[in-house]
Amino acid sequence: MSERALHPDTLAVHLGLEPDGVTGAIAPPIHLSTTFERAADGSYPLGYVYSRSANPTRDALERALALLHGAPAAAVFASGSAAASAVFRSLPAGSHVVVPRDMYHGVRVLLREVLAPAGLRLSEVDQRDLGAIEAALGERTRLVWIETPSNPMLHVTDVEGVVALARRHADRLLAAGALTPDERVLVALDATWTPPTWADPVALGVDLAVHATTKYLAGHSDVLGGAVIEARPSEAFARVRALQQVEGAVPSPFECWLTLRGLRTLPHRLRAQAANAGAVARFLAQHPAVAAVHYPGLTEHPGSEVAARQMRAAGGMLAFQLAGGEVAAMRVAAAVRLWRRGTSLGGVESLIEHRASVEPEGTATPRDLLRLSLGIEHADDLIDDLAQALERGAQA
Ligand SMILES: *Cc1c(COP(=O)(O)O)cnc(C)c1O
Repeated sequence: MSERALHPDTLAVHLGLEPDGVTGAIAPPIHLSTTFERAADGSYPLGYVYSRSANPTRDALERALALLHGAPAAAVFASGSAAASAVFRSLPAGSHVVVPRDMYHGVRVLLREVLAPAGLRLSEVDQRDLGAIEAALGERTRLVWIETPSNPMLHVTDVEGVVALARRHADRLLAAGALTPDERVLVALDATWTPPTWADPVALGVDLAVHATTKYLAGHSDVLGGAVIEARPSEAFARVRALQQVEGAVPSPFECWLTLRGLRTLPHRLRAQAANAGAVARFLAQHPAVAAVHYPGLTEHPGSEVAARQMRAAGGMLAFQLAGGEVAAMRVAAAVRLWRRGTSLGGVESLIEHRASVEPEGTATPRDLLRLSLGIEHADDLIDDLAQALERGAQA
């Protein structure tokens, strides 16, 4: 073997998994045991004690996720929301965090209704604007949370720009004595919409990357999960690990195994999904019933240049607005035959969703907007189905 790093396609298939030492099985076993035997001298010779703290199948998934990211470590959780919650709760008491105004509504609900009442201070800003982020940074700011492209408006945030702001701010606070030398102003990226190989959180300089593995990483709409990736060594990750082990909001061994299996085809799925998203975005952009298409792979998208710099492909999610308003949007969603009407994303099957009606009352999501998650079907079939749905839906 040469010194050259393996291509992502090859890495994803192998991901550090050796054949099982006991049986030679090439597919990894699922270790259901919650408890592990102590030696006569009271020690734990193989390192495992109790599955809330560590489990061999969960370890295999964490190792695979760390390898896939070229990162030191990963901690997996029972859902993406549990992973996000652990990051926010790892911060010192009284911390202030800067979060995007357009973001996954579940994490926004977690922040507003659970964490803010418990003392976390929040600023919600338009993260397309680095100036707005900078203006929100304060003495107690300990984290900037980024989601890009955002859900559901596909806003693009300049990740490296945010990292530079956070580092400068930390230097200022340190000089003013408002930050102790072991404290940081962290940057966490909700990378659910940009798994490897679409983006590389380590190279972008963030401290933590968070995934709902439920989506692209597992990839088959059949298992919930979340992960926190330690992109750069930090005390915060050690506290995330402690929360994981002490609270036990962890995926079961079978869920870890399903996610691990999904990872093996990740690069292939992502290539198909990005190609389909581009083809569907171009089709929609020229359709008379469509008022706007939000996809960073279109050159007319205001975030396309930043997206091209920080993403290897423009992703598999897009949103579009109907010239005929909410009525037309609901009709188009009702008229699809191949696309599945449903929430979530990142699976092999293409999904269409009227986003405003699944989000809480008062959401800023436009009511004429449909969100698409591209699967791995053939683009021609997806476009034909959308064409017939648009033709029927746009008729008053
Ligand atoms: C789905 C999703 C989450 C939450 O993940 P769950 O596994 O549903 O808890 C967080 N962020 C983004 C961007 C998501 O799409």
